[in-house]
Amino acid sequence: MPQLAQMKYCTGCGACANACPKDCISMTADAEGFHYPIVDAARCVRCGLCEKACPVIGGDFCRDNPAAYAVHNRDAEVVGSSSSGGVFAAIAEWVIGQGGVVYGAAFREDLSVSHLRVDAKECLGIFRGSKYLQSDVGSAFRCVAQDLKAGRKVLFSGTPCQAAALHRYLGRTYEELLTVDVICHSVPSPKAWRRYLDALQARERSKIVFANFRDKRDSWQGYYLCTQLENGREIVRTGEENQYMRAFLQGLSTRPSCYHCRFKGSNRGSDITLGDFWGVETAAPEAYHAAGTSLVLINSPKGQSALAGIAEKLELRPVNEAAALEGNPAYSAPSAPHPRRAEFFASLEQEEFDDLVNHLLAPTKWEKLKQRWSRSIVCRGFRKLRRLISL
Ligand SMILES: Cc1cc2nc3c(=O)[nH]c(=O)nc-3n(C[C@H](O)[C@H](O)[C@H](O)COP(=O)(O)OP(=O)(O)OC[C@H]3O[C@@H](n4cnc5c(N)ncnc54)[C@H](O)[C@@H]3O)c2cc1C
Repeated sequence: MPQLAQMKYCTGCGACANACPKDCISMTADAEGFHYPIVDAARCVRCGLCEKACPVIGGDFCRDNPAAYAVHNRDAEVVGSSSSGGVFAAIAEWVIGQGGVVYGAAFREDLSVSHLRVDAKECLGIFRGSKYLQSDVGSAFRCVAQDLKAGRKVLFSGTPCQAAALHRYLGRTYEELLTVDVICHSVPSPKAWRRYLDALQARERSKIVFANFRDKRDSWQGYYLCTQLENGREIVRTGEENQYMRAFLQGLSTRPSCYHCRFKGSNRGSDITLGDFWGVETAAPEAYHAAGTSLVLINSPKGQSALAGIAEKLELRPVNEAAALEGNPAYSAPSAPHPRRAEFFASLEQEEFDDLVNHLLAPTKWEKLKQRWSRSIVCRGFRKLRRLISL
């Protein structure tokens, strides 16, 4: 049997399954809904290609300190439908404009998320916006290899582990390949997303036909999740009001490998890293946009020439890398599981989604006491006094 990554480190990227010449590795969901490789030992010919493709087993990538930019796409419609500054859309259009193809994460009709391939500008909209659950890569790595061998320019985008996996799978560099990863907090379970959707549909007695994790009509910074139902109703909730986003951001529903993620800081295979410019108001106030500002990190000369290629579509400001990353710990450090994560997955199939999350994330007596204290007149008085003294 091949020696693949241990379960707690396996990112579910599917590079091993893509690499297997006998198709004897299938990516199968475990009880939590995360995909892991299952090897059919009887058909395995021990060629070792799956082990070679595994980004967890492979060595580190060494990128120099990236050049950092605050970026905002000049096209308001693009920014409105992207998570932050709409940079990905500009890169994708640039690649298609050169006869290339683009791979990224998109919703399918049932609102599951997979990696798809697009070669026409009109279809690129499916990639816009973050989908906060693990995307199924399927056979995308094989398709990328075919496109590259046919001499096409390829843009691949995904989480840092997916971008690293593609490089390990390919096993060599291609001039025509450009890779973009996102600063990644962690990925929630597709099963948690399905349970959330099912509960909402049952409550509303209508099918959900559209979801947007980063609705911006009130603010780009509030993680507003918008769902539209077949009956015409639309529900928009902030990340704090929405139990799916609370479960994600507090580490109830996220993948075990994310807590040990190796693809942080400069250990990235990508040419460009995109993120939300959290803290832009203090790190680069002149780059703040009410509709969203992206943080762009250029990791390679290829990334730098792509940025030059799209510069006229963007408002682009070089920023100090350390200051820009101060508000974004997910760039360099793995996230942590919530102490009640095991209870979340143990009850996911039995309990109604919102009830379960509300119950598990209910403040403890000590937290309630702290909340009450911070809202009290005495505490507010102390804070005011401290502010006056520091003036
Ligand atoms: C799971 C996840 C966690 C994230 N965590 C952080 C974070 O902690 N801090 C931070 O600054 N930014 C984070 N981001 C990135 C951020 O949300 C934006 O994607 C980024 O700011 C780029 O925005 P944009 O406006 O340029 O482009 P957008 O149009 O928003 O970017 C879309 C790109 O993201 C890719 N993408 C979308 N969903 C997925 C997915 N499920 N899996 C793989 N790729 C996907 C698409 O393929 C496309 O390339 C995260 C994104 C995801 C998907």
